[in-house]
Amino acid sequence: MSRGRIVIVGGSMAGLFAAVALRARGFEVSVHERAGEALANRGAGIATHRELYDAVRTAGIELRDEMGVESRGRILFDRDGSIRHTHEMPQIMTSWGLIYRFLRAQVADDVYHGGATLSGIEPAADGVTAVFADGQRVAADWLIGADGARSTVRALVAPEIVPAYVGYFGWRGLFDEARVPPAVLQQVAERMAFGMAPGGHWLGYLVAGPDDDLTPGRRWYNWGWYRTADADSLRDHLTDAAGVCHEAGIPHHLIRPELVEAMRAEARASLAPQIQAIVDATPQPFLQGMFDFASERLVHDRVILIGDAAATARPHVGMGVSKAAEDASTLAAALAEDTLDEWQAARLRYAHAVVAWGRDLGSYIGPQPDDPAHRTRAAHFQRPEVLLAATAATNPAAYLGI
Ligand SMILES: Cc1cc2nc3c(=O)[nH]c(=O)nc-3n(C[C@H](O)[C@H](O)[C@H](O)COP(=O)(O)OP(=O)(O)OC[C@H]3O[C@@H](n4cnc5c(N)ncnc54)[C@H](O)[C@@H]3O)c2cc1C
Repeated sequence: MSRGRIVIVGGSMAGLFAAVALRARGFEVSVHERAGEALANRGAGIATHRELYDAVRTAGIELRDEMGVESRGRILFDRDGSIRHTHEMPQIMTSWGLIYRFLRAQVADDVYHGGATLSGIEPAADGVTAVFADGQRVAADWLIGADGARSTVRALVAPEIVPAYVGYFGWRGLFDEARVPPAVLQQVAERMAFGMAPGGHWLGYLVAGPDDDLTPGRRWYNWGWYRTADADSLRDHLTDAAGVCHEAGIPHHLIRPELVEAMRAEARASLAPQIQAIVDATPQPFLQGMFDFASERLVHDRVILIGDAAATARPHVGMGVSKAAEDASTLAAALAEDTLDEWQAARLRYAHAVVAWGRDLGSYIGPQPDDPAHRTRAAHFQRPEVLLAATAATNPAAYLGI
C-alpha cells in the first residue's frame, strides 16, 4: 500500500535521488522535468569525497575508482611555471553523467515525465496540486521542489529568496585533452592544477570525455578561472554582439570574441606558461556567473525544497550532488517517520554550513569589504596550503564545523 503520493518537480540529481529514496520507502512518486530529452552531462567532473560516497550508496550506487579519473593531489604553478606548492590528496573525479544515468535507469519511464514545466501550485484539502504549463494538473499529498538554483517552486512559495551574485564569475573551459600540448598534459594529468592571478585563481583537472569515456587520450580537460567583476561587467560579459543580455547564462557561441581574446591576453600576462597553453588550446571558453543563497525554510505547508532549489553554494566546495542526495534520502526517512520538523532543522543547519564554507573559500575573490575580520579570513583562504587542501576537499566535515 502506498504511504502517499508525491509530485517531484525537477528530474535532475535531487529529483532522481528523491524518487529512488521515496519509492524505496513505499511512496508513490512522479517526476516532472522541464527538459524534453535526457539531461546532458553538465560537463564537468564531480570531485568525490566521503559524503558523496555515503550519499550515493543510499541510492544503490557504489562509486569505484574505475568510475572516474584519478587525481593524486594538487599542484600550484607560479607565474614563471615553477611549482610553488603541492598537496597530496588522492581523489577520484567522477562524472555527473554517470551518476545521472544510473539514477535515471532506476526511475521507470511511466513515472518520469519529460517536457513538463511547472507553472503553478495550488493548495488542496490535505494536499497540493501541481499545475504545468501545458495545462496538466497533478494532485498529491506533497510536492517536492527539486528544480535547481533558479527554482520555480521556490519563487512561488518563498519569492523573497533570490540567489545573489557574489561579485565574480568563472571563465570555464572543457575540451578534448588531445589538444593540450603533451609536455603540459604530462605535468597536469594526475593532479588538480592551480594558478594564482590577481582577482581570482585558476584551476583545472581531467574528467571523463564524451559518454563518460575514461580512456587516456579521449578524456576532457576541465578548467575554471574565477574573475572579480562587478554586476555591470557581468552583464557586459553576458551580452552578445547583437546587444542581447542573456541573464540566465549566455550560450557559449554567443560570447563576444573580443572578451575571449581579452581573457586569453590576461592569462598570458598573469598565469604560468603551462596554464596559458591550456587556455590557448581551449576552442570555446564559456562563462558561469557565481551566485549563492540558503533558504530559511524548506517546508512550506505541503511543499518541500531540496537540492540546489533549497540552497546553492559556490562551486569551490564541490558538494552540489552529495547535498542533493543527502537532502533526498533524509527527507524520505523523515516523511516515512513523520519527523519533518527535525529534518528541516538539520538540513538547514547543513545547507548554511555548506554555503558558508563556499563563502570562506571565495572570500579573497570579488569585492573586498573594508573589515579587519574579512581581511584576516581572505588572507587565510588565499594561502596556497589552504587553497589547495580545502578546495573541493575529500574531507568536507573538517571544514563544515557541524
Ligand atoms: C550548468 C550546470 C553545471 C554544473 N556543474 C557542476 C559540476 O561541475 N560539479 C558539481 O558538483 N555540480 C555542478 N552543478 C551543480 C549540480 O549539477 C547540482 O548541484 C546537482 O545536480 C543537484 O542539483 P539539483 O538536482 O538540485 O538541480 P539541477 O541539477 O540544476 O536540476 C534542476 C532540474 O529542474 C528542472 N527544472 C527547472 N525548472 C523547472 C520547472 N519549472 N518545471 C520542471 N522542471 C524544472 C531543470 O530542467 C533541471 O533539470 C552544475 C549545475 C548546472 C546547472
